[in-house]
Amino acid sequence: MRYVSTRGQSPAVPASTTILNGLAPDGGLYVPESLPALDLTALQGLSYRARAEKILSLFLTDFPAADLHDCVESAYTAEKFGGQDPAPLHALSGDRHLLELWHGPTCAFKDMALQILPHLLAKSLKIQGETRRAVILVATSGDTGKAALEGFCNAPGTAILVFYPGDGVSEIQKRQMITQRGENVGVCGIQGNFDDAQTGVKALFSDPAVQKKMEKAHAFLSSANSINFGRLVPQIVYYVHAYLTLVEQGRIALGDPIRVCVPTGNFGNILAAFMAARMGLPIERFVCASNENDVLTEFIQTGRYNRVRPFHTTISPSMDILISSNLERLLWYLTDQNTTRVAAWMKQLKETGEYRITGAPFSLLSGLFEAASLNEEETAAAIRKTEETDHTVIDPHTAVAVGALEKVAPADCPTVIASTASPFKFTRAVLSALGEQGSEDPFEELSLLEKKAGKAPRSLSELKSLPVRFPQVVGKTEMESVLESFVQK
Ligand SMILES: *Cc1c(COP(=O)(O)O)cnc(C)c1O
Repeated sequence: MRYVSTRGQSPAVPASTTILNGLAPDGGLYVPESLPALDLTALQGLSYRARAEKILSLFLTDFPAADLHDCVESAYTAEKFGGQDPAPLHALSGDRHLLELWHGPTCAFKDMALQILPHLLAKSLKIQGETRRAVILVATSGDTGKAALEGFCNAPGTAILVFYPGDGVSEIQKRQMITQRGENVGVCGIQGNFDDAQTGVKALFSDPAVQKKMEKAHAFLSSANSINFGRLVPQIVYYVHAYLTLVEQGRIALGDPIRVCVPTGNFGNILAAFMAARMGLPIERFVCASNENDVLTEFIQTGRYNRVRPFHTTISPSMDILISSNLERLLWYLTDQNTTRVAAWMKQLKETGEYRITGAPFSLLSGLFEAASLNEEETAAAIRKTEETDHTVIDPHTAVAVGALEKVAPADCPTVIASTASPFKFTRAVLSALGEQGSEDPFEELSLLEKKAGKAPRSLSELKSLPVRFPQVVGKTEMESVLESFVQK
């Protein structure tokens, strides 16, 4: 299997190269030349890990089978994911099924991909004969930074440096990062917001002086953000797993349709569901759920993508996004792989802030996708209602998906809802939605929520007693020197 760019101006490369490169050289995103077919019958009765191994082997064809086996076995352990099934289903009323993707070490769905990506990257270094150290540079608004740190912690051949906005992340998210264990990790706060951190990291990537210093240290910069195809493949696995779990539970027969509903930001999670469907998984419809940052809702309803709009900070911060990078891959599929059109739209987006799709690609989109967005009150109401009617406490991101379902046409098949974070990661918003008093102390809030939602994940409650390893907060101009001293260690 070879990988090509959505913009058509980069040579086809094997999977290991796409994982090391992240972005294609022409600025496009890597996509597999064709999609392999799923053999659902052969995947029945298998464990999550065995399913992951089979599905990964369809895409990562330049990886030796034994390597893939190692990667999967090291990533999805019962210890890291709190049990044998890393992605269990939790039934709600009305034939709705929460696919719980937050049982990993950092309590958000990013773990599903970021626990295995470092292993895939380490094997890719080996396959490509790359002896330099890969230095993963991350700017984070919260969830990605911690998930990447946990994933890359002590991964051979790699080091990871995370910059977070000093005044942008929640207290729990900050504690998660500054107490990170591991020999190859670094964490640093930036005086500024997420944009400042992101802009600073992008500048480091394109600075020739930085490149030189990296070469001197026998290292190169790499990224772990969600445009890396190595993050998408592991996400296909859990949709297949959810479908086969419904079959095993006797809720559907093999071949029956289901619907999926996904709280969406960068469009990675829902794109994985779309790819699974193209490979033969019977997903009949996709519901794309957004918060007040409703750029995708408008796009799916009208064909017009317009990022020129106010940015809202919401209680579902991981979906506060105006440019959904992975949508570019969907456009490539919708246009039947028309790289010229995709490149032209992306150019328009960059230059004017908008583009519009019409004709056959738009018909295809409307036939498969529905979209709805929720404001803050509606999100809180969805948390409250789910607790009242189903005795289940959900986080604000999952709540956006649950609420979106009430705004679209009902389906006569089961709906799988991607549940993307533990409610304990967003205690303040969840307590407030449930009409409970919060507290100044984040750990006190964990205990308050335990009264409603059962035991808090240990990885969050133990933060209180972990030593702070990375107290450093620097000005924006000091990021380069932080990186320099980091690689010299
Ligand atoms: C990242 C994230 C999302 C959005 O996922 P995308 O793949 O970017 O669409 C939703 N919920 C949570 C909790 C997240 O961390």
